[in-house]
Amino acid sequence: MTNAEQQLTLLTNIEGVENFQDKLKSSKQHPLQASQVEIFQINVGKRCNLSCKHCHVEAGPNRVEMMTEATFNKCLEILKKTPEIHTIDITGGSPEMNPYLEGFITEASALGKRLIVRSNLIILMDLKYKKFIDIYVNNKVELVGSLPDYHRDRTDKQRGKDAFDQSIRVLQLLNSKGYGKQDSGLILDLVHNPVGAYCPGDQNALEYEYRNRLKKEYDIEFNTLFCLTNMPVGRYLKYLIDSDNYHDYLNELVSFYNPKAVENVMCKTTVSVSWDGKLYDCDFNQMLDLGMNDPDSVTLDDFDIEKLNNRNIVIHNHCYGCTAGSGSSCQGALD
Ligand code: SF4
Ligand code: SF4
Repeated sequence: MTNAEQQLTLLTNIEGVENFQDKLKSSKQHPLQASQVEIFQINVGKRCNLSCKHCHVEAGPNRVEMMTEATFNKCLEILKKTPEIHTIDITGGSPEMNPYLEGFITEASALGKRLIVRSNLIILMDLKYKKFIDIYVNNKVELVGSLPDYHRDRTDKQRGKDAFDQSIRVLQLLNSKGYGKQDSGLILDLVHNPVGAYCPGDQNALEYEYRNRLKKEYDIEFNTLFCLTNMPVGRYLKYLIDSDNYHDYLNELVSFYNPKAVENVMCKTTVSVSWDGKLYDCDFNQMLDLGMNDPDSVTLDDFDIEKLNNRNIVIHNHCYGCTAGSGSSCQGALD
């Protein structure tokens, strides 16, 4: 059994948990349908300088999966001829560790679309990758930096020793370049996610806390805080099982099920591309190897915006992570 198959087995028929599909049926939201693909999310590889405990990608320094230059070029071709897509969203792993990222950013920024890179920040302390700060500035890349918590101990617990202090130094450096500063045109958003087996708190309240603490203690500014629910996928799924929290966590997600969040789930407007050029409904489905519903939409070579706009989305019980409470997405809460 592959790693993805093992995870899907764990996510199937969970004691006391109604299948997500039935839940959607009872709120009359099944099948879950895409609306208009506007966001092209590219997972450029699984290599990362960190090995965070909550990582749904199971990324780390020893992963070898990496998008090739040829696959990046295919992405560019699609982006050039698809004006409906207004946002390019780059994720990983640590995207900076892909040797073709710099070239891709330079070409993609010329397309005039919104260009986002999700960075763990700490990578930008590394001499080899520090150059990306200027690359991001020069290409007006929007940065989404993960800082799991404004408490040092909680961030370090999830990311490793000194992770918090290193992130703070990078945030100060980014601020000095204009990132996160009013009217600079350089957007710096932060990501919060819970350090244990619980759902995130209220996004507005947490943003207020982050803003006050980071300003007062470290003179750091940022634009927006996104709160993400940890998905029961990858390393976080293993953590839930090892810590004996799996059933309680899944039941908590189900008890907070919010049909309003379903209306705005990110897969409705996103297509997700893997390092090897395959198409998925989202990065979580990608990690679970849940390809698209349509057998003719498998890789970038099959990209057809009309088909993708009209597709039914592949769902499973991990989708409770996107639809609990205020909901969760790459842009934070949904409801
Ligand atoms: S959560 Fe992000 S920074 Fe941490 S290991 Fe995964 S990809 Fe790397
Ligand atoms: S995990 Fe979330 S984004 Fe992915 S298919 Fe399910 S609801 Fe959509």
